[in-house]
Amino acid sequence: MDCIFCKIIKKESPSMIIYEDKDIIAFQNIRPLAPVHILVVPKEHIPSVDQLEEKHKDLVGKIFLTAKKVAADQGIAGAYKIVFNVGEGGGQIVFHLHLHLLGGWKSKEDIDMPGMP
Ligand code: 5GP
Ligand code: ZN
Repeated sequence: MDCIFCKIIKKESPSMIIYEDKDIIAFQNIRPLAPVHILVVPKEHIPSVDQLEEKHKDLVGKIFLTAKKVAADQGIAGAYKIVFNVGEGGGQIVFHLHLHLLGGWKSKEDIDMPGMP
């Protein structure tokens, strides 16, 4: 399967890994939209939120708890955004489920994300 995130997970493509366990990997976004922009990605290839099923409940919880831990490790606890783009119409480009963890702004006025106050 020609999926860039599967390649990153298999270490066939380089990335700056921030966190990894048996189910999840988190790495730096190659084109950051904020001072901290990390992608939290399940190792299972699930295309998007639209394809989530009951059996993924624990995994989804783990994605959020990993984002919270990574945010704390990055020093942005209490000051971040979590985004999932869903489908082409929702701006999704990579069709392997991922959570965007965004933060690190000096003040709220520095947040520069169109349509996202
Ligand atoms: P989407 O719009 O699908 O939610 O976001 C995909 C994100 O993956 C984009 O922010 C993009 O910068 C990032 N991305 C795409 N290809 C790569 C890659 O090869 N390496 C890394 N680290 N990030 C990538
Ligand atoms: Zn994949």
